[in-house]
Amino acid sequence: MMSASRRTSIRSYHIRTFGCQMNVHDSEHVAGLCEQMGYEWTGSADEADLLIFNTCCVRQGAEDRLWGNLASLAHAEGARGLVAVCGCVAESRGVEILARFPEVGLVFGMEALGRLPQLIERSLVARVCDTGEVEEAEIDALPARRENTLRARVPVSHGCDNNCAYCVVPLVRGGERSRPASDIVEEVGALARAGVVEIELLGQNVNSYGGDLDEKVSFAEILGRVAGVPGIRRVKFETSHPRDLGREVLVAMSECGPLCEYLHLPVQSGSDRVLKAMNRGYDAGYYKETAALARQIVPGIKITTDIIVGFPGEDREDFERTLDLVRTVEFDAAYMFMYSPREGTPAWLLEDDVPVAEKKRRLAELSRLQGKITVNSLEKMSGARVEVLVEGLGRDPGQVVGRTRGNQVVVLDGSEAPLESLVTARVVSAGRHSLKGRVYEVLLEGGRQGTRRE
Ligand code: SF4
Repeated sequence: MMSASRRTSIRSYHIRTFGCQMNVHDSEHVAGLCEQMGYEWTGSADEADLLIFNTCCVRQGAEDRLWGNLASLAHAEGARGLVAVCGCVAESRGVEILARFPEVGLVFGMEALGRLPQLIERSLVARVCDTGEVEEAEIDALPARRENTLRARVPVSHGCDNNCAYCVVPLVRGGERSRPASDIVEEVGALARAGVVEIELLGQNVNSYGGDLDEKVSFAEILGRVAGVPGIRRVKFETSHPRDLGREVLVAMSECGPLCEYLHLPVQSGSDRVLKAMNRGYDAGYYKETAALARQIVPGIKITTDIIVGFPGEDREDFERTLDLVRTVEFDAAYMFMYSPREGTPAWLLEDDVPVAEKKRRLAELSRLQGKITVNSLEKMSGARVEVLVEGLGRDPGQVVGRTRGNQVVVLDGSEAPLESLVTARVVSAGRHSLKGRVYEVLLEGGRQGTRRE
């Protein structure tokens, strides 16, 4: 296949990221390196001299979007920049990507990130594929370009030791490797000195942090140490595995001011039979007790979850149990997906026996139920005074959006709340997915002390 002519020098870059917060964080490192090389960010993927796709293969949908994006490049006209693919799909299917898409000039795994300048140089001359074993210590030390000067993501661990039947993460990211506690705290200290006030600690299963280290430090201790760094006002974390979420983490959340009242606790199913087939290591009763304990120990906590419908063997009765669990726990929000088989996982060997039409029906039914619960949760916030970290522009002109300590989205008037600020606001109304607020006080603006508004 003929490919369009390619630009031979790079001045601008654009990154399109698919998948989880860990991928978003990896993209920050990719962006940091691009800036170090003197490239400038552009918001236009079409005009970028270097277009990077940071990919995700956890769900079929995310992978399909990558294939769609790459296929559409084939139809683009005119001179094109260098197209690079990194992340999970690059690591698992790098050679196939180069074979199928002549437009792609560079495929690299995250372990090759430190070599990105040389890889780009080489791929301007010939197509390059560099994937292999993951070595995160070096990646964590690379420069990062963050979207917001007030908040930063900090990994506490990489990979996962669990073996959930549907999940491809252990295959593409390897087993769990915890970062030394001193590295995490040092990184947070440096971020705080640079003006960061909110830290999001990341790991596939943060609660099993430290099990592989000689120095025995629990995740609750890490939370306490990070929350104690001068200047840090908000600490969030994800993802928690229900089986490993200890009481001491909840107690720390209730006692330690900067630890936010937010818990993302994926349940995946409300059926004991399906949970067992998924190899999740807990049953629905245990999950309900854990969620109730979280609400009891951490007043006002917001709990969100992930749910998969249509796992192999899930029948109507199993699905009803998921609905029942959702009614009982009353999640503040949920991310709901149809099961899609991922090659190499234990569930790949099971018959994907729930028809797509039935999966869609179950997903719609579950979404309707959760939608009502989410609206109730948001309406309960009416009149409340909340602290909001402003993260970006809203959908309508003049609006900005941010998140509360409980991770609920709040839409604010941009003339009252500058981008990259920390404000307090009164909730004036609730929508289907977000709150609307009126700013009361600007606490911090671009890392500086703000002014009170009347
Ligand atoms: S805990 Fe399970 S679902 Fe989460 S990353 Fe590990 S294997 Fe995947």
